[in-house]
Amino acid sequence: MTDTVDVVVVGAGVVGLGVALALTERDRRAVAVLEAEPTVAAHQSGRNSGVIHSGLYYSPGSRKAAWCREGLALLYRFCEAEGIPHRRTGKLIVAANPAELPRLDELAARASANRVAARRVSAAGLIDVEPAVAGAGGLWVEETGVVDFRAVARAIAARVQSGGGTVRFGSAVLSIVRDGAGFVVESTTGTLKTRRVVTCAGAQADRMARMTGPDPGVRIVTFRGEYLALKPERAELVRGLIYPVPDPSLPFLGVHFTRRIDGTVDVGPNALLTLARDGYRRGQLSPRDLAEWVAFPGFWKLLGRHWRVGAGELARSRSKALLLRSLRKLVPSLELSDLVPAPAGVRAQAVDRAGRLVSDFLFAEEPGVVHVLNAPSPAATACLAIGRIVADRVLAAG
Ligand SMILES: Cc1cc2nc3c(=O)[nH]c(=O)nc-3n(C[C@H](O)[C@H](O)[C@H](O)COP(=O)(O)OP(=O)(O)OC[C@H]3O[C@@H](n4cnc5c(N)ncnc54)[C@H](O)[C@@H]3O)c2cc1C
Repeated sequence: MTDTVDVVVVGAGVVGLGVALALTERDRRAVAVLEAEPTVAAHQSGRNSGVIHSGLYYSPGSRKAAWCREGLALLYRFCEAEGIPHRRTGKLIVAANPAELPRLDELAARASANRVAARRVSAAGLIDVEPAVAGAGGLWVEETGVVDFRAVARAIAARVQSGGGTVRFGSAVLSIVRDGAGFVVESTTGTLKTRRVVTCAGAQADRMARMTGPDPGVRIVTFRGEYLALKPERAELVRGLIYPVPDPSLPFLGVHFTRRIDGTVDVGPNALLTLARDGYRRGQLSPRDLAEWVAFPGFWKLLGRHWRVGAGELARSRSKALLLRSLRKLVPSLELSDLVPAPAGVRAQAVDRAGRLVSDFLFAEEPGVVHVLNAPSPAATACLAIGRIVADRVLAAG
């Protein structure tokens, strides 16, 4: 027998779960979340830096800027209500040399445009905030915090279930076919009939969109983010969060030092284009993924635009000495022997036909369907805000 639900949500990362929560809480809809893996947050949501972002970096007026602010407030409240360990650590963005100071000024102006409280720190004042840091100046952002997004995902899933929704693990969605006024969703655990569908499939987002509608004109490319960790006996080098001034041409924030909620200090992530959508390991290659990428004109244009940055990232990934040299610009007393390997994450990022990395959150919508096509950082911070917005859109969409 085929079960029937109001809404099928594909993906139990924090974005899919955020959508399911909004649907169950607000409208008491019968929601089924289908997740291919055996747990929540198995991909990006459980393998990230665990930073609750303030909303400082994003273009004023963008979805990222607005929803990060809204999401941060909702997330702090949710963590408090659910008793999820979290900490408002604040974060220090450091200009490594005087040439980076104008970019720090731009960030300060952007913070003010986005209504994020941030204060400049002089070169001499840096050590009062982070004793091991050196640089030409800094920007201190108070609202930034840390949390384990796996714990957030587990708590959201529990609320979805207590609100009458279901989360089905090991359910990889194979097809979504329009059927009269609704859809038939086939997964590895059976078939569901539903009136509406939301897909939040991270690295598989563009494939989901192509199941129900026209080619959305973007492909997901994936970037492995490798981390190292400070040895426990050297973890005192970092009190909170230390970030470099980011490269404005890229959607990544640069390799940073993060004291996580469990007290460990991570260094990373870098950003290496992978040859497989789940390219957690070096050298991992998927012929299917690669064939799709090389057939997409935007992929080649992306390589043309960013090959220099990519080559630099690759060199630092291969040579710890090179990596150390760049990290020492922020923390000069760091030694190679302080660093040990830590698990990598893989970022999903939409690229358009012109080879541009899509910077804002992006959806594809058709009657009864919303596909979340691009939900890179700070989507974990913003997950509860994105959830509300997508829930409204799918209920309005036909
Ligand atoms: C290295 C790294 C560091 C980051 N740091 C931060 C940070 O500090 N702060 C922040 O806010 N954001 C950060 N991000 C970004 C953040 O983690 C993501 O934006 C967010 O987790 C996206 O959530 P999601 O639910 O869209 O995707 P995902 O967590 O990737 O979830 C997608 C889910 O869909 C499932 N799925 C895919 N295909 C199918 C299918 N066919 N059937 C069923 N299920 C399917 C997958 O198994 C997966 O569980 C970081 C990301 C990475 C990778």
